[in-house]
Amino acid sequence: MSELVNQLKIVKYPHPALRYKSKPVKRVDRELGQIVRKMFDLMYEANGIGLAANQVNLPYRLFVINLTADPNEKQEELVFLNPVILRRKGFEQGEEGCLSLPDLRGTVRRSKEIDILAYNLQGEEICWRVTGLLARAFQHELDHLDGILFIDHLEPSELLELRGYVEKWEDEYMSAVSEGAEEPEDKVLNRLRELEALRT
Ligand code: ZN
Repeated sequence: MSELVNQLKIVKYPHPALRYKSKPVKRVDRELGQIVRKMFDLMYEANGIGLAANQVNLPYRLFVINLTADPNEKQEELVFLNPVILRRKGFEQGEEGCLSLPDLRGTVRRSKEIDILAYNLQGEEICWRVTGLLARAFQHELDHLDGILFIDHLEPSELLELRGYVEKWEDEYMSAVSEGAEEPEDKVLNRLRELEALRT
């Protein structure tokens, strides 16, 4: 496996990659397959049902979903490359969490039914009408690719309740950067741009 794949890990808020607007993937190769495999493994380790490329510090429009969160249910694994929403219908409130914002939950309004278009790793078109948890997970992950987090959608009153956590993480991250344990923003952005040039 490449060094890049071995180094992948889930980044936590407020890592700058989480605010990066990802670019469409133009090159699908063996390494991208390994990246996707690693993303599923990291997602299962963290008991998640979805993980976007931004969350492993990569600048690609790509996310993975397995609504069962069960590594034994490989047939439930979904890979979405260059995903878009073609049509939205209705609204639904629901609770969400995020592997990059551990232990936080919040109520987010999402479209109830969406028509999606994406590609899988084999280059096959995925053109589905989806509802329920898959629709919610898809919209949450798609947001990640545009640098948007679920906390950005919360009502002000709800955000206020979570404010303590968010500020604590921001302070911790600043300290980690000054101690050299985390990369500063400009370094992260340079790396993302380099990776972007390879594949988009
Ligand atoms: Zn998330």
